Amino acid sequence: MQTIVIAGGGVAGLELATRLGRDLGRRNKARIVLVDSAPTHFWKPLLHSVAAGTIDPSHYHVDLARQAIDNHFEFLCGEVVDIDRAGRTLKIRARLPHALGHESVLRYDRLVLSFGSVTNFFGVPGAETHCLSLDGVEQAEAFRRRFLRLCAATSGGAPRVNIVIVGAGPTGVELAADLRHTVDTLVRYRLNSLESPCQVRITIIERGPRLLPTLAPALSEAAARKLRELGIEIRTNTAVSAVTAEHVTTADGEVFPAAIAVWAAGVQGPAINTRLGIALNRNKQVLVDEQLRAVDDPFIHAMGDCSAMQVSDSTAMVPPSAQAARQQAIFLHRLLAGIERAAIPVFRYRDQGTLVSLGEYGAVGMLRQVIGDRYLNVQGAMAKAAYRVGYERYVMANLGPVRMFAQMLVRWARSRWLMPVKWH
Ligand SMILES: Cc1cc2nc3c(=O)[nH]c(=O)nc-3n(C[C@H](O)[C@H](O)[C@H](O)COP(=O)(O)OP(=O)(O)OC[C@H]3O[C@@H](n4cnc5c(N)ncnc54)[C@H](O)[C@@H]3O)c2cc1C
Repeated sequence: MQTIVIAGGGVAGLELATRLGRDLGRRNKARIVLVDSAPTHFWKPLLHSVAAGTIDPSHYHVDLARQAIDNHFEFLCGEVVDIDRAGRTLKIRARLPHALGHESVLRYDRLVLSFGSVTNFFGVPGAETHCLSLDGVEQAEAFRRRFLRLCAATSGGAPRVNIVIVGAGPTGVELAADLRHTVDTLVRYRLNSLESPCQVRITIIERGPRLLPTLAPALSEAAARKLRELGIEIRTNTAVSAVTAEHVTTADGEVFPAAIAVWAAGVQGPAINTRLGIALNRNKQVLVDEQLRAVDDPFIHAMGDCSAMQVSDSTAMVPPSAQAARQQAIFLHRLLAGIERAAIPVFRYRDQGTLVSLGEYGAVGMLRQVIGDRYLNVQGAMAKAAYRVGYERYVMANLGPVRMFAQMLVRWARSRWLMPVKWH
């Protein structure tokens, strides 16, 4: 029986392990092993809401050990620290409290890398040291705690809390909108010493000419208008050149005070990729062919943010998104389970559109129409509903319809009975 090891249980890895387990694992046709350094999985596109405190991550976690039992795969909680490609083994350092640091070796016949990505600071001086990033739940929680501490330290109308967000892609925009809602809530319910929303100044700095560059210009403009209405400052065509503990400096010499600076301006492959001895692009992502196979190792596949693949019939790359990660997991499931019907299976990325949440204040986005290659611009309630559907579809695929509806009900009840922000 062959052993398929999936290294990284994020958006792509969880879905692939679940699908292969239900298919091959259940019928003892293959041993499926998922390895992740965390015991639980969290849907990364919600990290900005964890940072702003508008959701409690513990309400959204998927327990990977339980998921493994329910779906006929094995789960190992440990960090992959090395891969011996010649011997086809992984070295795993345990992350569970009772076995912390213990190293073990796992053999594979097929290895699927799905390590995700980490923030790319593009070598900007001081950025890595002084900026917070949203790479995982721990960082998002660290942001929330620091933000609340700063808000609690304001009294008598001063001093101001200055938050600078570098990057006006979906992460930066979603974080800014959610933070504004948190500030309003803290003031409205007198949850700490903030007296007015104006005491928190949120600035987004973007190098390009407009925010949300992957959306149609009209939608970027609509999102910018909404953010400005909320009192969020937006600086476009402005490159950040240095960051210190207290300031963000731009290339044209402007200095922004920043009690917190958040870097939301790009991702790269994680450090482990550089230890594999396989071909990477300059963003440290594993180069894969049309079957998501590493270009120089036929026993290794890579998917999601840690991989780099050109969109077929185009020079564009498959974007680092949850949408692409899920499509790749579904393709690899069909390929590895032998149910792909095409004579030469080829992964084709299909862009279904992009939706960006403005939290309590709506959403904007583009949805691919059912027929043809045209996109529909959506805003307001419709965009917000479509944004929610994206998350529910992922829950449904991994946890099934009963748990999806049960979780929706519980979330609805919590939204009625609990505070709208996690404020302590
Ligand atoms: C704030 C934010 C908002 C976003 N919003 C959207 C959105 O609206 N729409 C969208 O499509 N995309 C969005 N994205 C991008 C999306 O979240 C990612 O593209 C997606 O999560 C990538 O999936 P993945 O499986 O490749 O990696 P991840 O989901 O990041 O999973 C990687 C997994 O690998 C594990 N891991 C890493 N290294 C090791 C190791 N050495 N050993 C063991 N395990 C390891 C990690 O613990 C993690 O579980 C957003 C991202 C962020 C940060």
